[in-house]
Amino acid sequence: MAKTIQAIRGMNDCSPTESPLWQWVETQVREVLNSYGYSEVRMPIVESTPLFARAIGEVTDVVSKEMYTFWDNDEQLTLRPEGTAGCVRAAIEHGWIYNNEQRLWYMGPMFRHERPQKGRYRQFHQAGVEVFGIANPEIDAELIILTARLWKKLGIDQHVSLQLNSIGSLEARANYRSALVAFLEQHQALMSEEEKERLIKNPLRILDTKNQALQQVLDDAPKLLDYLDDESREHFAQLCALLDSVGIAYEINPKLVRGLDYYNKTVFEWVTSALGAQGTVCGGGRYDGLVEQLGGHAAPGVGFAMGLERLVLLVQEVNASIPLKSAVDIYLVYQGEGTALAAFQLAEKIRSALPQLGTMLHCSGGNFKKQFRRADKSGATLALVIGESEMLNNQVVVKHLQGGVEQQTLDIEKVIDYIQSQF
Ligand code: ATP
Ligand code: MG
Repeated sequence: MAKTIQAIRGMNDCSPTESPLWQWVETQVREVLNSYGYSEVRMPIVESTPLFARAIGEVTDVVSKEMYTFWDNDEQLTLRPEGTAGCVRAAIEHGWIYNNEQRLWYMGPMFRHERPQKGRYRQFHQAGVEVFGIANPEIDAELIILTARLWKKLGIDQHVSLQLNSIGSLEARANYRSALVAFLEQHQALMSEEEKERLIKNPLRILDTKNQALQQVLDDAPKLLDYLDDESREHFAQLCALLDSVGIAYEINPKLVRGLDYYNKTVFEWVTSALGAQGTVCGGGRYDGLVEQLGGHAAPGVGFAMGLERLVLLVQEVNASIPLKSAVDIYLVYQGEGTALAAFQLAEKIRSALPQLGTMLHCSGGNFKKQFRRADKSGATLALVIGESEMLNNQVVVKHLQGGVEQQTLDIEKVIDYIQSQF
C-alpha cells in the first residue's frame, strides 16, 4: 500500500459524527447575533503581514512567534491569527465606517503556530464581533449581554464567569508601565529569562504570568486601575453600573490586560474551570485607536472573539441535552426490476415536499437484508420499501426502524402526508 499522508499537527478534521454538534453550536451563535441585528462579514484568510504587525503589535506573542508567514513573490503574507485586524482593514478599505456605525460579526478559521494541546490548536475557529463608531459604554455592555445570552442558549452559563478590567488610555498605560517596571525590577531574581525579556519589551504581559512565586509578588504590585485617566474611570464605572442593573455578575481582575496591543479602556474575558489550562472561551475589549492607526478616519471600536473549539468542548463536557438530529430521517430501500426508478422518483418527491428532512436513497444494491442493515446504521426513523409488487400496485411499505409501530403498506400518494405526521 502507498504511504499515507497525515494532517498537519494541530490542524484538525471535523468528522461526520462531530459535525452535528459543531453545526448546532454555530447555529446558536448565528441566531443570537442576528437577534441583536448584527451583520455578517467575510474576510480573506490571508492578509499582508504588516497589517498584523501594525495592528496587534510587534512584541506580542502572536506577532513575534505565532504567525504563519510566507513570501508570495515580493510580498509577505500571513494566515490570519485573529479577525479584528482584517475586519478593520476591510472596513477602512470599503468605507463601511466613514461617518457611520457598524455592528459586524464573522466566523471562520484562524492560524497560530502554538504548541498543540487540548483547547489549543494551530488551526482553530473563532466567531467574532466588531462594533465601530460607538464610543459610549452602552455598547460594551451590549456585547457582554449578548455573550451571556449565548452561554444560556448553549447551556454553559453555569460554567463560565466574567472577568473585567479597564486598561485606560495609552497615556495612563504608559504611566502605569513605568510604575510596574520600577516595582518588578526589584524582583528580577524570581524571573525566567523570558520574563526578564518581557520586562523590557512588554511588561504588562507579566501580569498574567503562570510563575507562582511571581504571581504572589504581583499581589503587591501597583494596580492599573489606580492609574486610570478620568475618562476611562468614568467609562468603566458606567459599564459596571449597566452590568449590575441587568444582573450580570463579574469579577474585576486588575491583572487582566489581554495579549494584543490595540486595546484601551474595557477589556474582558469569559473563563471556565471545566477545560483545564485553556480556560478562556471568549475575550474582547475596546480599541478606540486602531482604525486611525491603520490609516482610517478616527472611529471608536469594540469587539470580542470566542474560540469555537473550546465552546464545543465545554458544551460536550457540561450540556447533555443538546437536540442533535440524525443526518438521515428516511431511508429508501428497493429491490427488483424497475424499482430503482420508482425509488428515485419517490425520494425526489419527498425532498421537494419536506426539505427539512434528510432522505437517503440506498443506491448500492444488494438484497433487502443488507439494505436494512444500512438503513439501521444510518440512524433514520423510517425505512420506505419498494419491491416489485409494491411498484406494480403503486404502494410503499413503511417500516419504523426505531421499533414501536407495526409496519404498514401505503398508497404512494398518501406517503408524504404520512411522513409529515411522523416528524
Ligand atoms: P490564550 O490566552 O488562551 O492563548 P489568547 O489571549 O491568545 O488566548 P485571543 O487572541 O483573545 O486568545 O482569542 C480569543 C479566543 O480564541 C480565546 O479566548 C480562545 O478561546 C480562542 N483561541 C485563541 N488561540 C487559540 C488556539 N490556539 N486554539 C484554540 N482556540 C484559541
Ligand atoms: Mg494565545
